[in-house]
Amino acid sequence: MTSNQGQWHCVTNRGARMGMIAALTLTMGLAAAPYTFIEGKLPEDVQPDGNSIVFEGPTEMLVIDTGRHPEHTDKIIALAKARNKPITAIINTHWHLDHATGNARIRAAYPGAKIYASTAVEGALKGFLIRNVDKAKARLEDPSVPEARKADTRLYLGAINDPANLIPDQPVKGPMSLKLGERELQLHLAKYAATEGDVWVHDPASKTVFVGDLVVVPLPFFDTGCAEGWRQALAEIDKLDFQTLVPGHGLPMDHAAFSKYRSAFDDFTVCAEGSLPTASCVATWMQKGAAFVAMHPDPRYSEEALTYYVDQVLRVPSKRAEYCGK
Ligand SMILES: [Zn+2]
Repeated sequence: MTSNQGQWHCVTNRGARMGMIAALTLTMGLAAAPYTFIEGKLPEDVQPDGNSIVFEGPTEMLVIDTGRHPEHTDKIIALAKARNKPITAIINTHWHLDHATGNARIRAAYPGAKIYASTAVEGALKGFLIRNVDKAKARLEDPSVPEARKADTRLYLGAINDPANLIPDQPVKGPMSLKLGERELQLHLAKYAATEGDVWVHDPASKTVFVGDLVVVPLPFFDTGCAEGWRQALAEIDKLDFQTLVPGHGLPMDHAAFSKYRSAFDDFTVCAEGSLPTASCVATWMQKGAAFVAMHPDPRYSEEALTYYVDQVLRVPSKRAEYCGK
């Protein structure tokens, strides 16, 4: 999910918390997981946090995605403090600020933490991320804007004015592995998918994949997405032998649930690339992705967001060209 406060987020703000009971039906037992899952919240009236994952090694900690709000990031830092081990590595699955704003806070506590990420953020800092700076500054001056929204705006401006904590010092340019004690995490790069460069992580030992916003519940967020590359990334992930998939938003799911997600994704995006009415494509996700839509308390939220993405992103040639690098 992006940090820009465009039309789409006006829609999200009407949404509410995840339907926890429904979500549990797709959740694998996490009791034995060798990592800590910190769920990103989708609170009312403020922007979301992406999920975070914290791995503990023999002498150090590694985190996948750092959230947006200090309250989220502080849970990660508290975990490291409780274990008395420094955070030495941050993996950002992508540059959206609900996944990367917390980098600065973690590095303030652990200055040695290295950032592993795609270099796509460099382009975003010259384009997508700075497009709404003037609007954001105006929002801070507007007395009718609620304080919570202003606080989000300050986080956004703070993050884009601190590029050193977003741009990787360990760029992920293709497959690579990262050792944490005996554990070897495999990093992969998907080009032109949810963003221009999405990093996803495979932990073969625990048969888990951490895919950031390549999978989002209740629906994929196309704010900076390229359907074609994204389908390829999901196909590559589906080939792997894994039991649990941790999405960028929403609760972990098993491989069978992911395969359903992928199938719904393919049908929805192929529909958007064709000439059927928008409502048909929206209905495709609402039916084939019904298990995911049900995890949000308000199905109208999914319908409105899907309609927006078909009409305002997937069927806009200039956006397809920009997000698909063409
Ligand atoms: Zn996100």
